[in-house]
Amino acid sequence: MNVQIDDTCIACGVCTDLCPDVFVMGDEIAHVVTNPIPPEFEDEAQQAAEDCPVDAIIIT
Ligand code: SF4
Repeated sequence: MNVQIDDTCIACGVCTDLCPDVFVMGDEIAHVVTNPIPPEFEDEAQQAAEDCPVDAIIIT
């Protein structure tokens, strides 16, 4: 499972609060710390993608 964040991110902090082991906040948008996502964080990453208000988290 790989996760990307596109440039529609509004830096709301939902993903970084929900799953700080995978998402960190950069200067303007959130970033993914590690790909592929470790199996133990896949559920949280999936939840973050569902909760992102602008659908900026893309899971492949
Ligand atoms: S939840 Fe979406 S909009 Fe909010 S910081 Fe994460 S990627 Fe950006």
